[in-house]
Amino acid sequence: MQLSTILAEIGLDEATLRYGTLAVRSPIDGALIGNVRTHSAAEVDGAIHSAQQAFDAWKLVPAPRRGELVRVFADILREHKEALGALVTLECGKIRQEGLGEVQEMIDICDFAVGLSRQLYGLTIVSERPGHRMAETWHPIGPVGIISAFNFPVAVWCWNMALAVVCGNSVVWKPSEKTPVTALACQKLFADAVAQVGTVPPGLSQLLIGHADVGAQIAADRRIPVVSATGSTAMGRRVGPVVAERFGRAILELGGNNAIVVCPSADLDMAVRAILFGAVGTAGQRCTTTRRLLVHEDVYASLVPALKKAYGSVRIGNPMDPGTLVGPLIDKAAFDNMQAALGSAGGQVTGGSRVLASEFPHAWYVQPALVEMPEAARTVQHETFAPILYVYRYRSLDDAIRLHNDVPQGLSSAIFTNDLREAERFLSVAGSDCGIANVNIGTSGAEIGGAFGGEKETGGGRESGSDAWKGYMRRSTSTVNYSTELPLAQGISFDL
Ligand code: NAD
Repeated sequence: MQLSTILAEIGLDEATLRYGTLAVRSPIDGALIGNVRTHSAAEVDGAIHSAQQAFDAWKLVPAPRRGELVRVFADILREHKEALGALVTLECGKIRQEGLGEVQEMIDICDFAVGLSRQLYGLTIVSERPGHRMAETWHPIGPVGIISAFNFPVAVWCWNMALAVVCGNSVVWKPSEKTPVTALACQKLFADAVAQVGTVPPGLSQLLIGHADVGAQIAADRRIPVVSATGSTAMGRRVGPVVAERFGRAILELGGNNAIVVCPSADLDMAVRAILFGAVGTAGQRCTTTRRLLVHEDVYASLVPALKKAYGSVRIGNPMDPGTLVGPLIDKAAFDNMQAALGSAGGQVTGGSRVLASEFPHAWYVQPALVEMPEAARTVQHETFAPILYVYRYRSLDDAIRLHNDVPQGLSSAIFTNDLREAERFLSVAGSDCGIANVNIGTSGAEIGGAFGGEKETGGGRESGSDAWKGYMRRSTSTVNYSTELPLAQGISFDL
């Protein structure tokens, strides 16, 4: 699909991409997609003011009616799935299947949020005082700031937006400076939904394009009680304290260093497929990408050669081609980081070199790399956002779990085993310390129904399903006295 066709489908005016100072290039071939306008500090301030005004009106709209807006938006996404998915591929380089999958994820979270808009339930709690009732109610909280990363340019916004909007909030979105065009497309489709519904306050969804300084301004602004920030741990280290200093709430979704443990009883064919998708899918540019493989010594000699063979047959190329499994890295900096990591890996490297350089001289395609680590090596501590899989050998499950948890990050994890004891142990408090722990499926590709996020330097935030919506609301506990007495809690006597 050509850019002009995509823009026409979405109804985004091509002029939007003509007059700005931020040059956007496709990682597919380095070609210019367009120049987009960035927002000044004064414009950011004005947008936050508008979002606050929109919030004041939107919070009073009954939640099921708020859900109606999200339902209409989901229908519009269904209609434009092909075009938006193609734009995701063009701008961030993930293969067509994954671009479409990302839009599907948006639709799924919208459906989830619509259901939620008829729930948002609190508890009633027994009171220790006779003739009293205690209850908690969840209220809208205010404009929600969303700072997002390049590798999920549309889904992460939608995870946050859909929940925030049904919860009665407005949103202020700062997408990655590497993927502003998909953000403009989302904003256009959202505006279509607003127009269709008709009774939505203006300014409910604000889009602010720019670099880190725009994100920093959102993080520091007291009018934004919740800031959901997705990106590197380095970014979270800056944003987290700024939000905390003003007593805001940060939902931090940061880097991962995810591992799969392969046990002696594992179905190795299944494990190879899962490891391959987890390690090389999205060219290793997912927060949940499999970065470490811990293999029991009894199956090492069968699994690792099979995996290397599978690596050898992966089709690398233009992500728009239906047969491609691995597209490009986002830019040259990502390629340089990968080469530096491989240079200091300390193990035996297979793959990792640049490919297709003559066909795409201005793009960065790589052969995914596998690094067999020496026995005594400490597990790699850093996330390199590229397809590098470090392979370790282990003897006992105790060793594997120790190695598994010996990293600063705690996002996603998996074990391949047919042994119930091993599986349950991995999922127990004595096992994986991650926010996501799987059995016989890989580390990436979560469904929206569960809460998504991780521990330690991954930031501790939770988004998407389960009760993650509570992060976008404020809780009010109320006690009602319907008796004729005024007993005090804890039996305190205070008589005149
Ligand atoms: P990045 O940290 O470079 O940028 C992410 C966003 O933060 C961008 O919009 C950027 O402009 C903004 N930003 C950067 N510094 C900032 C600052 N000081 N203040 C405010 N905003 C700032 O990340 P990236 O390269 O776009 O994405 C890759 C990273 O994101 C990886 O580490 C990956 O693991 C992580 N990620 C995490 C999740 C998750 O859910 N845990 C999901 C996707 C990506």
